[in-house]
Amino acid sequence: ATPVGLLTGTGRGAQLGILIRGPQVLEDTRTADTILLDKTGTVTSGHLAVDSTVAFEPFSEADVLRLAGAVEAASEHPIAHAIAAAARAAVPAAAVSDGGQLPAVVGFRSAPGGGVAGTVEGRPVVAGRTGWLQENGVSPDPAMLGALGAAEDSGATAIWVAVDGEPAGIISLRDTIKPGSAAAISRLRRLGLRPILLTGDNGAVAAHVAAAVGIAAEDVFAGVLPEGKVDAVRRLQAGGATVAMAGDGVNDAPALAQADLGIAMGSGTDVAIEAADLTVMGNDLGQVATAIELSRRTLATIK
Ligand code: ADP
Ligand code: MG
Repeated sequence: ATPVGLLTGTGRGAQLGILIRGPQVLEDTRTADTILLDKTGTVTSGHLAVDSTVAFEPFSEADVLRLAGAVEAASEHPIAHAIAAAARAAVPAAAVSDGGQLPAVVGFRSAPGGGVAGTVEGRPVVAGRTGWLQENGVSPDPAMLGALGAAEDSGATAIWVAVDGEPAGIISLRDTIKPGSAAAISRLRRLGLRPILLTGDNGAVAAHVAAAVGIAAEDVFAGVLPEGKVDAVRRLQAGGATVAMAGDGVNDAPALAQADLGIAMGSGTDVAIEAADLTVMGNDLGQVATAIELSRRTLATIK
């Protein structure tokens, strides 16, 4: 399914590439008073890079990266792309004839907002958040949990890697905030919308991003699983808010559908675009503010 209408109110809509599903969407842009913003890929670039790898005895950093990279190569998540790329880059091209190749994964599984698992070189490998590790029967000890906490406190997205049922290490990744995000969020505020940051990532990263783009500390919802994103929309609606939500990921789609005004980034996944009421071309959050301004003006012209 593709959005049915092109917002052509001023001619600028078409030029800017703002797609709407129907006339009701214009009214929703007028009544929305709260906007949930997905962090990864919406407020930030979503182009993560591996920052550092920590290994626990008897595992080596090279093993942690190679085994995690092999499993993540089968996932579409931005975290997965970053880890697979770093692992490929670390394969010593001179040492092996097929330099840059990662070992194959067998029995790949993944949980949205959780992580991935599979068998590599005959060894079971699990990568992801603490809850996903526990679901797979792996329990990090207090010292390891401390290491994860330290990585997160530094503002990194940190994920576990477990091998043979034991925690093997931690991979830390960093994202960058899109240059236009802070300005876009102040425009949304001037349009009367309360911006809230919504993410499955850890609270320390979320707090760091929120502070950088001007979102209040109490308006950060972190560690939210994909189902939790829908609940967050419902809770705000139950409290009387008219909720807009901007996102780009597969994990955002149910919340985009539940929101009064679901907005997809054009650079996002097809699933998000299908679930949204309005799609903006490109990946700049400023386009979201422009879409709302333009829809409201178009509505005023019609009335
Ligand atoms: P966001 O809301 O920031 O887009 P997600 O809901 O996709 O985040 O993921 C939440 C968390 O789940 C991630 O921060 C990470 O800890 C874990 N996770 C999700 N997918 C993967 C993956 N492919 N590999 C490792 N960890 C993952
Ligand atoms: Mg996202």
